[in-house]
Amino acid sequence: MKIAIVGSGIGGLASASLLSTRHEVHVYEKMDRIGGRALSMNGIPENYKKMLAGFEMANAFSMPDIETISGMAKNTKIDLGFHLIGGGKRGACVSSLKRINANVNFIGSKLGIIEGDSTKYPMLSPYDKLKMLPRIMQLLFSRKETIEAMKKMSIEEAIEKYGKGKLKLVLEIFPRLITTVNELDKISTGESLFAQRELMGGHPVVYPAGGLEEISKAYAMHIEKNGGKIFLEREIKNVDVEDGMAKGIDGIEYDAVILNMPVQHIFRVVKEKHFEREWVRKIKSLYGTGSMVSYHLLNHVPSSLLGKSYVFLEKTDEFKGEAVAGMIDFKMAVPEAKISPPGKYLVQSYAICSPEEAKDRSKWEMLKNIIDENLDRLIKGYKKHAEWEIYNAIWHLDGVAKTIDNDKPDVETPIKNLYIAGDSVNSKGIGINCAVDSANIIYERIESISSG
Ligand SMILES: Cc1cc2nc3c(=O)[nH]c(=O)nc-3n(C[C@H](O)[C@H](O)[C@H](O)COP(=O)(O)OP(=O)(O)OC[C@H]3O[C@@H](n4cnc5c(N)ncnc54)[C@H](O)[C@@H]3O)c2cc1C
Repeated sequence: MKIAIVGSGIGGLASASLLSTRHEVHVYEKMDRIGGRALSMNGIPENYKKMLAGFEMANAFSMPDIETISGMAKNTKIDLGFHLIGGGKRGACVSSLKRINANVNFIGSKLGIIEGDSTKYPMLSPYDKLKMLPRIMQLLFSRKETIEAMKKMSIEEAIEKYGKGKLKLVLEIFPRLITTVNELDKISTGESLFAQRELMGGHPVVYPAGGLEEISKAYAMHIEKNGGKIFLEREIKNVDVEDGMAKGIDGIEYDAVILNMPVQHIFRVVKEKHFEREWVRKIKSLYGTGSMVSYHLLNHVPSSLLGKSYVFLEKTDEFKGEAVAGMIDFKMAVPEAKISPPGKYLVQSYAICSPEEAKDRSKWEMLKNIIDENLDRLIKGYKKHAEWEIYNAIWHLDGVAKTIDNDKPDVETPIKNLYIAGDSVNSKGIGINCAVDSANIIYERIESISSG
């Protein structure tokens, strides 16, 4: 089959990489680089603020101003914002790269916790896990009907039923961090237990040495090795649809078209009239997630923190869900990560909020203060070691939040031969893992068609 993939985000590239082994694939990317939301930059580009706006982000604060940082950060590699991949080696992303023998080195860590003025690393001791395990096993290996029911059960309900001792704290923090949603009454117990099972492993979170772009580069290399093509700076304007079937893009014929962009944006390239009104309404009602993400370039980090990751939970009435969960990560700071300039340490963090809160300037200062206070608990007086700091608000972090009220669409659209890849669709995991798993599902569906 001849297949067009619109967008070179992780979902588009993972789809093209899998399909390139058996089909002719062409990837079209409107930007001058691959990776979508998982891109990496050498320092701060001139068009930084415009680029952020394109990803539904805004620079909330910077110390000093962005133009000055741009001159200082030339040999620092940064992504669009905080990124860690959940599930370590068991997650969809790491396993898919292993299958194509990609040369990507993942740095992993356990998770520590900041609680008041004290910190604990790792957050869960082997004894804690042993004590919680029977309860988690009971929930995970329940009968199929129970699992289905758990998908519709909120974490708030699960805490009432099962949340005792350490398990209560785990259920209060991890589901929020995994879904980037603070409202426990909206998070699905089934979905977060699935993701949590992966977090229980040796390295629950990983980051690729050399920056997130290493993942996209590995897929791109595999696509091109198999004869697939990637066209940059090629914005696709229209998917050609005839008799309920996708025929190609912008007048070029294809047997199948895969759209890789937040699902709410697909009507920019496919006319609404081709879908049932109800489907359009449903897709437009889906919402993503939000956060404040920050980078801190420090000239000193205690060696005891290097390579580790810490979570925090701030109870506050100022935000939906009456809490702000977040994370501060020091894996980018180790020399093996090849991100920070020699003798400097890039630290990344995020504090979760709703998309509306991320757009609300009156919340920015509060989110910044939450991040700063928690970083200060880890490194007392850290500000005196900060060479520069950037805080960005984002209101479309995940394509579609994995919440009970958001019914994520299938990879197959109502239009024949038109698929959706990325983190917006109903596949396993969150964020990058969800995008990679969407590619696995598309591959299976296309294979079953092409093999008759
Ligand atoms: C700041 C931030 C922090 C995040 N943190 C995490 C994290 O810690 N862990 C995690 O797992 N996930 C995280 N995510 C989410 C993660 O980045 C995404 O889930 C992941 O990158 C997958 O994206 P995608 O495949 O859906 O495609 P996208 O990244 O949305 O890519 C879509 C691509 O399509 C292109 N495109 C769109 N329209 C057209 C067109 N008409 N023609 C041609 N090209 C087009 C775009 O330019 C883009 O390159 C974060 C996201 C952000 C922004």
